[in-house]
Amino acid sequence: MAVQTVASTTHSVDLGPAAALSCRECGHRVPLGPVFACEECFGPLEIAYDFSGYDTEELRRRIEAGPASIWRYAPLLPVPADVAGKPNLNPGWTKLVKADNLARELGVTGGLYIKDDSGNPTHSFKDRVVAQALEAARAFGFTTLSCSSTGNLAGAVGAAAARAGFRSCVFIPHDLEQGKVVMAAIYGGELVGIEGNYDDVNRFCSELIGDPAGEGWGFVNVNLRPYYAEGSKTLAYEICEQLGWQLPDQIVVPIASGSQLTKIDKGLRELVELGLVEDRPYKIFGAQAEGCSPVSTAFKAGHDVVRPQKPNTIAKSLAIGNPADGPYVLDIARRTGGAVEDVTDEQVVDAIKLLARTEGVFAETAGGVTVGVTRKLIENGVLDPAKTTVVLNTGDGLKTLDAVAGTGLTATIRPTLDSFREAGLA
Ligand SMILES: *Cc1c(COP(=O)(O)O)cnc(C)c1O
Ligand SMILES: [Zn+2]
Repeated sequence: MAVQTVASTTHSVDLGPAAALSCRECGHRVPLGPVFACEECFGPLEIAYDFSGYDTEELRRRIEAGPASIWRYAPLLPVPADVAGKPNLNPGWTKLVKADNLARELGVTGGLYIKDDSGNPTHSFKDRVVAQALEAARAFGFTTLSCSSTGNLAGAVGAAAARAGFRSCVFIPHDLEQGKVVMAAIYGGELVGIEGNYDDVNRFCSELIGDPAGEGWGFVNVNLRPYYAEGSKTLAYEICEQLGWQLPDQIVVPIASGSQLTKIDKGLRELVELGLVEDRPYKIFGAQAEGCSPVSTAFKAGHDVVRPQKPNTIAKSLAIGNPADGPYVLDIARRTGGAVEDVTDEQVVDAIKLLARTEGVFAETAGGVTVGVTRKLIENGVLDPAKTTVVLNTGDGLKTLDAVAGTGLTATIRPTLDSFREAGLA
């Protein structure tokens, strides 16, 4: 296992309440550093916090008085206390849209919300996770930011590196949507297309980490993964705070590697443990595209392990055939009484249009996946329409225009009223 040591990593690392790294499988603890796998059992390492000393009401007041970004939750994240003053993109605090029109269409009576993360600086939820990895990179003395990406992460890393004065070099499958390629390239870092799918890109990055060529590089979703992953907790924090410090009954979350879903669960449980929300049951539902549905396939088959698939779907941001956190997603869906479901590419496109036409929210394909899965789960009687439901839109439709390529002009007319009438528009 590639365990990197960078000069002065284990000394004087100030990442706020983050106390150590702890193995999700065996609990083995190691000091904070750029490592991601347990040296005892190869299990994934997670951040262990010291939240002792927080008074619930004081913490709530501090959060509410904090900046309109993820940094209002800095006391709960692996970042230094003065993080908001450092150069970064200040993502988060995105809109929680009360989706009454969509609710009517889907027959939801208990309150339906879209958590719209297209409002982040690079128009996807990835700005949340990259912001954590950036602080870890600063703390460990890295000078280059890198990642393996299905598209959105590449843009988020490029932008964060530009703002923070890091070099960036990111890796993507060579055949991504043009919107994602341009978004990743525009910030001036290096962007490398790999001939292969995301899983090939990821494998390549793992090799690069173990090679002298990758020395001094922080791969946000590989050797900085424990820090990166914590950024997804902020979705859970924001949703609860925006609901008036309440847990939602049901959340529908897209699955690529499964990291976001597992950390949303972690964030919800932390809020309960800290006393910031009242404990009550909630269900977490995972959403995939049929063309890349290793986790929903395992869920439906009752398996604990996830068999890798070769992705073939328009939902490219979710096209990870061998999802690292797949087994944990299965655990969470089962433990909370949720489910994992998938929809066809056609249903994804229908759902993108449905959301746009009902709520004025233009989602990327990943948002089509969550809305489509929500509709399917309601039709199948799995999701309770009488309960408060939050559906995540994690990216912007402008990045995946090809998915809705047939959408365009209603008519082309001459600039005359006759022509307007002839077209049947009067
Ligand atoms: C990366 C990504 C996700 C979730 O990714 P995980 O690997 O499961 O954390 C969801 N939606 C979009 C648009 C993404 O880019
Ligand atoms: Zn372990």
